[in-house]
Amino acid sequence: MRTEYSVLALLVFVCCLGGCAFFEPDPVTESFQSMGTRASVTLAGRDAARMPEARARAKEVLDRLEAEMSVYRLDSAISRLNRLAGTEPMEMPGDSLRLLELSREYGRLTGGAFDVTVGPVVSLWRFGKDRPPAIPSERELTRQRGLVGYAKVRLEGKTAFLPQPGMRVDLGGIAKGYAVDLAWEQVRKLGLAGFLIDLGGNVRVSGRPRRGKGWSIEIRNPFDTSSTLGRLDLQPGWAVATSGQYERFVVIDGRRYGHIIDPRTGYPAVGLAAVTVIADDATVADALSTGLFVLGPRAALPILKETKAEAIFIPEKEPAELWVTPGIEKRLVLTGRGTVGPLPGW
Ligand code: AMP
Ligand code: MG
Repeated sequence: MRTEYSVLALLVFVCCLGGCAFFEPDPVTESFQSMGTRASVTLAGRDAARMPEARARAKEVLDRLEAEMSVYRLDSAISRLNRLAGTEPMEMPGDSLRLLELSREYGRLTGGAFDVTVGPVVSLWRFGKDRPPAIPSERELTRQRGLVGYAKVRLEGKTAFLPQPGMRVDLGGIAKGYAVDLAWEQVRKLGLAGFLIDLGGNVRVSGRPRRGKGWSIEIRNPFDTSSTLGRLDLQPGWAVATSGQYERFVVIDGRRYGHIIDPRTGYPAVGLAAVTVIADDATVADALSTGLFVLGPRAALPILKETKAEAIFIPEKEPAELWVTPGIEKRLVLTGRGTVGPLPGW
């Protein structure tokens, strides 16, 4: 009897020494729909009771930005700006204006590979439309390409103006990352031990899920999206975004055409299956994952060096190869069939 008590006492003592790490509850997750995709908030187990507040804060931000920026909502500020193309400037709400400014910056940084005015060309490919998709004619492509150009967007004071009728802004390549950053700021004010926000694959973390442990995310297999290729360990504060044609595509004559368009050709970008970018904030990660998907690994090198972002490129051929930047090589653990190698030219 006595020995049992002392064993129990010793166990309690050891647990307390270790910060009760053995008995720390698992992280908890709640999901909801926003910005046309699945959003989720995950909290360290210790913070589980704060979930209602954390979820409410994140949802409020994401829903507000969706109402402001969605091109699927006729009454959003971005839809109104698009309707005023070629007519007059429009005073923009603060977040839309900020995001238009940031989009111009990333347009410049990627030499126009990331271009939020690519919408008129994207529509030609009829992603998610009722009409059967078809390869656009050269005439259509040439005409619509004439409406594309991030540098044409005029930003003056609080106003934005699209100078040509038919021009269109589509923030689909950057708005989710921006929304994650704003939601992250709001949830951070709760002073939690650790949390993770995910909006359709745009992730940002804070703190830790458990004492002595960091957050990690899974790298999905772009050739079989029900499986994973690896696990990436993240540092507190890091953000991750992935772009891939498998996320949204049309099939024409048995061939897949993905939703990320190369603004130079008007055709879907080819050569890669997926690009993951790891950065200090989710806006950069989102914009760069889309832009670098278009540019490919070689042209991406100077941009990654300049922004100090890390990346994983998966070329469009099986078996899967993961080309990674040196800063994250040690943080990546393979979990599926695939090989890891350095980014060519680094
Ligand atoms: P993401 O999933 O972040 O890579 O964003 C893809 C979305 O961005 C597409 O569905 C389009 O709405 C839009 N998009 C497509 N091509 C481009 C591009 N070259 N630059 C910026 N946005 C793009
Ligand atoms: Mg993106």
